[in-house]
Amino acid sequence: MIITGRTRVVGVIGDPVGHSLSPVMHNTEFVRLGLDYVYVPWRVAAADLAAAVAGFRAQHVAGFNITIPHKQAVIPLLDEVDDQAILVGAVNTVLHGADGHLKGFNTDVRGWTGDIERDVALRGKTVAVLGAGGAARAICTGACEAGAAELRLINRTPERARALAEAVAGRYPGVTVRHVGLSDPDARSLLRASGVIVNTTPVGMSGDPGIPIPAEWLHREQYVYDTIYTPSRTPLLRAAEAAGCVCRNGLGMLARQGALAFEIWTGHKPDAAAMEETLKRLLHE
Ligand code: NAP
Repeated sequence: MIITGRTRVVGVIGDPVGHSLSPVMHNTEFVRLGLDYVYVPWRVAAADLAAAVAGFRAQHVAGFNITIPHKQAVIPLLDEVDDQAILVGAVNTVLHGADGHLKGFNTDVRGWTGDIERDVALRGKTVAVLGAGGAARAICTGACEAGAAELRLINRTPERARALAEAVAGRYPGVTVRHVGLSDPDARSLLRASGVIVNTTPVGMSGDPGIPIPAEWLHREQYVYDTIYTPSRTPLLRAAEAAGCVCRNGLGMLARQGALAFEIWTGHKPDAAAMEETLKRLLHE
């Protein structure tokens, strides 16, 4: 990669950002396609977010990704937010237009549907979502947009599951939305009667090596998706494999949300599969 005076700059803001795989994923694809862009990490504390966004405007940064903890806080700092990001209530990608206009998008939604629908069509399915945070909001929006018949939201804190269920039901009146606390006696039967299960909790990550539901709740007619990608096989995915389920981790979602952001910034469609391969190499898979 050769950086010249004409190189366009994009990147990611978050705190922390040191763990981000996005710089290597995007820069490898910029080089592969011969595009004069560079992707850099910016560690920005919550108190400095407004100053950072004003700085991006001043420096004509071409666009940026946003990660934890800024995905919601950035919204009032933008000139426009697209419909899907409004539905999710979070922005993960910003385009800085030639006119200086900052427009926010949420590419997690189609990043996830594009990934999971390699294995299973969501139309008409009953989808159980574990967790009720930011990732769950994107997954619920994606499932509804893809035509899921029913959502079952299962969360440690029942009030958050209820709040998300109410928000989703209000936006998608054609979808049946149920919610339950993880420790509620009904959680097991609701989960077992769901065809697709998606984990959006951090339980199972390398630093948090548990399983978000008991392994015996799974059975072989179910499809299991874990949004976690480190480790590549979480305890949930191991239990799903042992039960005979088809399953997938979140690496393809990471690649596909990145590919959509890449296209928004450059107008060029990257090879999402190549971006996923870059991630696998980085993670030694
Ligand atoms: P978040 O907003 O903090 O939400 C986390 C959710 O997990 C909450 O509902 C929380 O329950 C639940 N939870 C946390 N610890 C738990 C525990 N020990 N037991 C049971 N439930 C627990 O986080 P997020 O932004 O949604 O991100 C969650 C995960 O999604 C991340 O860890 C990441 O791996 C994954 N993700 C992946 C991608 C991808 O591209 N593959 C993209 C985005 C996110 P309470 O409501 O009770 O606190």
